[in-house]
Amino acid sequence: MIPPLYRSITRARRNAIIIASFCAIGAIGPAAPSAWAQSAEQGGRAAVAASGDAGLRQGAQAQVQPFLDTLRELVEIESGSRDLEGLKRLSGVLAQKLKAADFQVEVLPARAPEFHPMLKGAELGPMVYARKTGRGQKKVLLIAHMDTVYPKGTLGKQPFRVEGNRAYGLGIADDKAGVALILHTVGLLRSLGADDYAELGVLFNGDEEIGSPGSAAMLTELGSQYDAVFSFEGGGGTRDMVRLATSSIAIAELKVKGRASHAGGNPEGGRNAIYELAHQIMKTRSFGNDAKGLKINWTVIEGGGVRNVIPAHASAIADIRSLNNEDLDVMEKALREAIKERLIPDTEVELTFYRSRPAFVANAASVAMARHAQTVFSEIGLPLEIRDRATGGGTDAAFAGLRPKGGVLESFGLRGFGAHSNDNEYIITDSIAPRLYLATRMVLDVGSAKVKW
Ligand SMILES: [Zn+2]
Repeated sequence: MIPPLYRSITRARRNAIIIASFCAIGAIGPAAPSAWAQSAEQGGRAAVAASGDAGLRQGAQAQVQPFLDTLRELVEIESGSRDLEGLKRLSGVLAQKLKAADFQVEVLPARAPEFHPMLKGAELGPMVYARKTGRGQKKVLLIAHMDTVYPKGTLGKQPFRVEGNRAYGLGIADDKAGVALILHTVGLLRSLGADDYAELGVLFNGDEEIGSPGSAAMLTELGSQYDAVFSFEGGGGTRDMVRLATSSIAIAELKVKGRASHAGGNPEGGRNAIYELAHQIMKTRSFGNDAKGLKINWTVIEGGGVRNVIPAHASAIADIRSLNNEDLDVMEKALREAIKERLIPDTEVELTFYRSRPAFVANAASVAMARHAQTVFSEIGLPLEIRDRATGGGTDAAFAGLRPKGGVLESFGLRGFGAHSNDNEYIITDSIAPRLYLATRMVLDVGSAKVKW
């Protein structure tokens, strides 16, 4: 069946269709993605085979296997944030797929700023930016990241496989599924001939897991040009959700300079940089504030190098999170104050405080988009939670939402588990069809200015 144009359906007809579908779902008991999938097929065919909405639902359901095929292809290209070869290969594959979907595609180089504490001007994975003009009113941008936290050579430990309603794979939940969902959203829209948007944009970046130092400016610029931005990070674990808040992230680096000396013959002549660093770490590790969501964790340490030499150098890096940007200022001030007090006289302690990612704070447009997403999901009998408090994670929604033209919404990806862990990362396959339907509907409803703010 070739579904008719989505745009040709009258509002009244669509509402009737939605009510009919909703009732059908109500009759089969508690909502579950698999139940929806089933009823989408049956209800869709029986009730209104010619409807655009049923066409979308059937189309989303029919995409499940092709989606899994895409996911396998994406997972099997390793793309750790510093694996430039893998990222270039992956961006080439994605650029090709977007060109095949009639997008104008650019592959753009990315570089870290010189003042970044660890990356210092390094070349990063490229960005894939694609655009397509439609016949609707609003400009909609879909974003996801290609890079993963896993170093090259780890695919063997987490190969792609499907077991029951789980699909496992390296970086599958964070964020290969988000990339695949965008590809299939634009693919589904194209196959339905649905182009109720002024422009549909796609941005895939390759440096999100290291704080997006090379794509941040582009994300902020695009956020100021597009009416709506949907970011496709994971859409929840046990329950489907969208996010209206993400944490701000900073990196603190402490460098201690001591004095080298023979550890056997003249230890008192040295100034042990490791002792001083340990002192500073133990002192500052409690500078967080649970109630405010302010966190500091020292996660990387280096020092010394020769067993019988009192170490002259030691350094450590801390990961810092807060729910708002002001608390980062509080943390920086506290750290600067703390390093004035030393354990080992004559050592020097230097602090670098790098603001890696701002907090994502939702505006009225973002809230309207979240509520609409909830309504769309309820129309297919599924609950969608709106999370408006950050939980420690920082994402690219924050850069896109820094100077927004309209709304930004996070967590448009699939439900899944195990991101950033050594355990097997997986996505819930039952969430493919509903989330694909949701993303497609949101592009059209926002693109046709049906969502007001
Ligand atoms: Zn991610």
